[in-house]
Amino acid sequence: MPDSNQFPPFIKILNLSKIFQAASMQFVALSDISIAFHQHEFTAVVGRSGSGKSTLMNMITGIDKPTSGKVIVNGIEIHTMRETAMSKWRGENLGIVFQFYQLIPVLSLVENVMLPMQIAGKFSQSERLDRAHDLLSQVGLQNYAHKRPYLVSGGQQQSTAIARALANDPPILIADEPTGNLSSGEAEKIFNIFQTLSSSGKTIIMVTHDEDLAKRARRVLKLVDGRIVSEKRRSLPSVGNAEAKP
Ligand code: ADP
Ligand code: MG
Repeated sequence: MPDSNQFPPFIKILNLSKIFQAASMQFVALSDISIAFHQHEFTAVVGRSGSGKSTLMNMITGIDKPTSGKVIVNGIEIHTMRETAMSKWRGENLGIVFQFYQLIPVLSLVENVMLPMQIAGKFSQSERLDRAHDLLSQVGLQNYAHKRPYLVSGGQQQSTAIARALANDPPILIADEPTGNLSSGEAEKIFNIFQTLSSSGKTIIMVTHDEDLAKRARRVLKLVDGRIVSEKRRSLPSVGNAEAKP
């Protein structure tokens, strides 16, 4: 697996601040954050509740806009985009995974995975079906394709949500507390899926409360009160050949 640092930054955040205005009060949710994320990189973002993790993710997905600063993804200043252009851009560039899966209950797993391709108008109907089956196989659910979400476990629902996030082959996956509602065994499986996806080139950012899981990501960012207070990188485990520690 290549070292992610050899790739140019794929997501660049420059002097980003986000201030929420509530009545006469101002609340600084993010304060002057500058950071970059690369392809092939799996970053875990940790921090207590209220530290600004979801706000930071909302800046990268363009769900919310910064008060000041820039968010540049693959050369595009996404904070300047209008909502229609933004929705299209998001559909092509981002897969988003939430804590509570947000699958459509009346659709089978394979239909859930096909949905983003239908919305984006990508691929023919038979290609969509083949792709959705392939994606479900990638997350170990080839035998569950025709089940409804309520018939499978939480971990399997989250695996389906990851397959759905990959439907249009986005370069970036953003996951906000994806294992927050799962058992440790299920969380492990989800983590392993993300790890495999980052090796194959995806840029992955995962918000998590689970410090043990976070420690095993390539890179861990810690937020306190809207600031990045630490950034740790772990060298890759290597087989038979010790990699130089930074
Ligand atoms: P985390 O995901 O780390 O738990 P958030 O990013 O959701 O934290 O929130 C950071 C802070 O910003 C919290 O104190 C939260 O109350 C505040 N906040 C988030 N969204 C809004 C909003 N839309 N309006 C006002 N305050 C908000
Ligand atoms: Mg949050």
